[in-house]
Amino acid sequence: MLIGAHVSAAGGSNKAIARAKEIGAECFQIFASSPRMWSAKPIADAVAEKYQAEMKRSGMGPTVLHGKYLVALGSSDPELLAKSEVALQADIAAANKLGALGVIFHPASHRGQGFDAIIDQFAGSVRKILDNEPGDSLLMLETSAGAGDHIGSSFAELGTLIRAIGNDRVAVCLDTQHVWAAGYNIAAADTLNAAMDEFDKEIGIDLLRSVHANDSMRELGSSVDRHENIGDGLIGTAGFQTLMAHEAFKRVPFYLEVPGTGKSGPDKPNIDRLKAIRTQVGAG
Ligand SMILES: [Zn+2]
Ligand SMILES: [Zn+2]
Repeated sequence: MLIGAHVSAAGGSNKAIARAKEIGAECFQIFASSPRMWSAKPIADAVAEKYQAEMKRSGMGPTVLHGKYLVALGSSDPELLAKSEVALQADIAAANKLGALGVIFHPASHRGQGFDAIIDQFAGSVRKILDNEPGDSLLMLETSAGAGDHIGSSFAELGTLIRAIGNDRVAVCLDTQHVWAAGYNIAAADTLNAAMDEFDKEIGIDLLRSVHANDSMRELGSSVDRHENIGDGLIGTAGFQTLMAHEAFKRVPFYLEVPGTGKSGPDKPNIDRLKAIRTQVGAG
């Protein structure tokens, strides 16, 4: 179980490695391009080579890229769908080039059409993107908090999409705050066991390939996406102890996306809290 964090890639992806090291991260997540704008610059060969060499030297665990927040493969707007496909394909191309584990993206909203109505479109788009961009990097669907018409707040929905896609480069990123908000009580042993049994039945536990490790500002089942620093939220230190002791998480990299103790994003205190819990539960 590696413990990492989202870090800024401002100034280039190589800068991210130093930032991750500085806070004691063992692996990290970056945006391949600005998450709130459609534009994306392809990564130059020289940059990718330098990055891969530096990553090898650093002993850092797997990089993941976070996709754009704008991506909406369940949209009925053909222009938005087309832009989403281009953006996600650019991200998976970047991931392949950097040797990243994969791209984590939000299944986003079905915009009132209902989940069943978007399955074929969503699956077709993902298949097309992966066919156009062969390589080793995964596309990871992120669990959602379930606000509004958001797709993927139940393991059943994610499993349905993944089976419809039918490509072994598709996996899942479990966000601890989102699943909590979606009503899975991952902080107590019996309900955590039930949740992970459900994950295994609906998706397959082998497809759990990354975790967004965030405590929660909001209550269980609130459907509200509000991250809190580890131990300061409603999941709490005891909740993370329970979670990190569970077999399903033992070989999965954790990436913090917390506000930070100084409100400047994931920081060393949060990394240290997770590392301490990992030691306590013997999951190192
Ligand atoms: Zn996310
Ligand atoms: Zn979130």
